Amino acid sequence: MNSAEILENSIKAFKLTEKHHGNITTLERALFLGWYCNLDDPCKFCFMSTQKEKIKDPLKARRKPESILAESILMKRIGWKLEFISGGYGYKTEELNDTIEMVSYIQQAKQYLNVGIIDFENLNLNNIEGVVGAVETVNPKLHEELCPGKPLSNTKEMLKKAKDMGLKTGITIILGMGETEKDIDLLLNLIEELNLDRITFYSLNPQDETVFQGKTSVTTLEYMNWVSTVRLNFPKMKIITGTWVDKLTNIGPLVMAGSNVITKFPLFSIYGKKEGKTVENEIASTGRELYSTFSDLDVLTGEKTLKNTKYVPEKIDISEKNLELINSLSKQLDKKIESYVKTTIRKSQK
Ligand code: SF4
Repeated sequence: MNSAEILENSIKAFKLTEKHHGNITTLERALFLGWYCNLDDPCKFCFMSTQKEKIKDPLKARRKPESILAESILMKRIGWKLEFISGGYGYKTEELNDTIEMVSYIQQAKQYLNVGIIDFENLNLNNIEGVVGAVETVNPKLHEELCPGKPLSNTKEMLKKAKDMGLKTGITIILGMGETEKDIDLLLNLIEELNLDRITFYSLNPQDETVFQGKTSVTTLEYMNWVSTVRLNFPKMKIITGTWVDKLTNIGPLVMAGSNVITKFPLFSIYGKKEGKTVENEIASTGRELYSTFSDLDVLTGEKTLKNTKYVPEKIDISEKNLELINSLSKQLDKKIESYVKTTIRKSQK
């Protein structure tokens, strides 16, 4: 497709997005449980694959509950939904059940989960809104090369099971790893086959010590081509698009191409700084209203409440055991929140 066609399609996609989703854009963030993935053959582009040999005790590479819960509280304050709870392969279902329950309770919101192949027999579905499969690339040859440890067939099977259980489903796709425009058709077929509710696109952020070290990523026009084609074919689908600090100016074009949500930011390092404000300006430049903040320090500290938010309170039941754990952590939780807020404010003033 030539560049003029991509822009023409994006204009159609932008109008279609407004028709089906309104005039709103939001920010989201994945909630990470840790930095260790126990996949035997890790994915070749992934930061965690570079850490695996360096981590002597995988349990120490996990976040403490107070850190996870503090971040969940702050995300709700600033109006960012959690894109999903994530953390690589290797989490026991019982641990996941407890973490998801506490996060859902604190946020009064059910969650999406992206933790590899899920053991549905033992997963407590009460607090799950949906499941995400990390497809990464739909090009079969690339997939085999880059994700040797997680065959696409297993991810598809999991997503079909999740649908059968009444859950919403989504996938993640990383652009910039060698895919071509021809692969877009494979993606459209996959979305249709799995009847997906949402998709997250990321632009490759080339990591040191991986095969992509020093390489470039997807261009903005190529990215717009993928997003607008999906929007034109699936008008009601939720489309989440990832950016990075070195690509913030692709946000406006991605919203024009049909994106509903922007994700993937080093949140606490740029909140309230010129980068956070750039994100807000990029979204405002498209005429969309932002239902989250990336700059308001009073909202972050809790002195002010966000006027518009995507959070709609849901009833979340919690076990005695987990409620007691949250209560017993209340001092550490307060300290953690204070530390996140203080660090963010300090960085915002630099
Ligand atoms: S499964 Fe996810 S966390 Fe694990 S190596 Fe692959 S991309 Fe990284």
